[in-house]
Amino acid sequence: MQEVPVPSFQDDSSVNANANIDELKRTFSTGKTKAYQWRIEQLKALKQMLEENSKEITTSLHSDLGKSDTEAWLSEIGYSIGTIKEKLQNLKSWMKPTKVSTPMLAQPGKSYIINEPLGVALIIGAWNYPFQLVVTPLIAAIAAGNCVVIKPSELAEATSALLAKLVPKYLDNTAFKVVEGGKDETTELLSKAFDKYFYTGGEHVGRIVMMAAAKHLAPVTLELGGKSPCIVDGATNLEVAVRRIVWGKWMNAGQTCVAPDYILIEEEYLADFSQRLIAEIKKQYGTKVAENKDYGKIINQRHCSRLINYLDGLNIIHGGKHNLDERFIEPTVVVQPATNSALMQEEIFGPILPIVTFKTKQQMLDFVTSRPKPLAAYVFTSNGKFEAEVIEQVSAGTICINDTNIFMVNHNLPFGGVGTSGMGQYHGKSGFDTFSHKKSVMKRSFKFDAAIRYAPFSKLKLMLLKKF
Ligand code: NAD
Repeated sequence: MQEVPVPSFQDDSSVNANANIDELKRTFSTGKTKAYQWRIEQLKALKQMLEENSKEITTSLHSDLGKSDTEAWLSEIGYSIGTIKEKLQNLKSWMKPTKVSTPMLAQPGKSYIINEPLGVALIIGAWNYPFQLVVTPLIAAIAAGNCVVIKPSELAEATSALLAKLVPKYLDNTAFKVVEGGKDETTELLSKAFDKYFYTGGEHVGRIVMMAAAKHLAPVTLELGGKSPCIVDGATNLEVAVRRIVWGKWMNAGQTCVAPDYILIEEEYLADFSQRLIAEIKKQYGTKVAENKDYGKIINQRHCSRLINYLDGLNIIHGGKHNLDERFIEPTVVVQPATNSALMQEEIFGPILPIVTFKTKQQMLDFVTSRPKPLAAYVFTSNGKFEAEVIEQVSAGTICINDTNIFMVNHNLPFGGVGTSGMGQYHGKSGFDTFSHKKSVMKRSFKFDAAIRYAPFSKLKLMLLKKF
């Protein structure tokens, strides 16, 4: 049979998946990645990579997504450096075995749990935070002592190429590889046996990744998306609420997995809320947004057309201007779209914010709970009873009260979805756990060996066993 060549993304970075993975498996089997010192050295080298190349990283993010210097620092470079610092501070204590008690029947004995690295992990990233979404899981995988193949998103071309250039310069080449490419290269990688599959992206490919992991019975983490609702109780502090909503929604031109996807509000507050929201958009981004360097671009023309098509026939109360060649869409607010419209059925993942109204708070809650479980759910309220009802009734990856995306900066909160918004978590200690196997160890003493569990059995032995 004629061999079909695997297409390569760049001439100098052919997939060569077998060779890469075999080398990483050999490295892992030497045991060197398990050493505390090696992990610390790799984390420090990665930090140095970020610090020494922050300008180049910012330029690539600007080229891919029109990210401003501030956003590039806040959500990608500075965020990743903060993640490394937090791992450096805590790694020693996380690596310590955890002692647990031992039941009477196994006495005298000791029991404890060791965090063991899983082996060779595959990390597949998405395009919207193209640097951070591969680097922060990589940080967790290094901390847990794994080797990694990194597959950045091909849609963020400049950042993918930069990662492929920088990682080999700073990290241990026998333990980390960057593979560039798109669907074909990812499919090729997914056919290989990894010890862990970690994927960030959409639901459709999430299913493909899970099926690939199932073939090897390997653990999988899926960081997916969905429609994150934002419930506004109009009787709350609307001045601060709209400021935080505008920040969370239009950061990265709305291309944030946890951005508020749509607003739910009681009818009587619609006019006041909309006016304040529009005034705040103008305050943060001005009236000539197309010229504003702080406002991002859509990743490509395909996604830009997808978003523009959403707007057909809708009641736009602010924005709506767009330029396909420039991959630009103004911050746009839409009121009362039909709940069966594409805008209200699909994850928007762009700078359009629909507002839907309801008569009562319970109706807003019913609307949210009747839909797939979101990655994040937001509620702005000063009403303690309503806040408690939202926390109790809404199942979501994270619930944030009186703010939007800011919860992402808290390393103490595990991050991940539930239901169709994903499975598994990372950030902080949960990232270390995600890339570790909890190996249980029990050690018995030879000193005392009660005959009670050994045959021949008797009524007395059974009675004593039941007591224990
Ligand atoms: P994408 O197009 O960059 O795809 C993600 C990865 O999947 C890429 O590396 C790509 O090469 C690979 N891929 C694409 N098609 C494939 C196929 N057929 N087979 C195998 N691999 C394939 O990103 P996307 O899917 O457009 O991502 C957007 C989604 O990601 C949104 O739903 C968003 O909410 C979600 N997201 C989630 C998080 C999170 O942390 N939970 C973060 C960012 C984005």
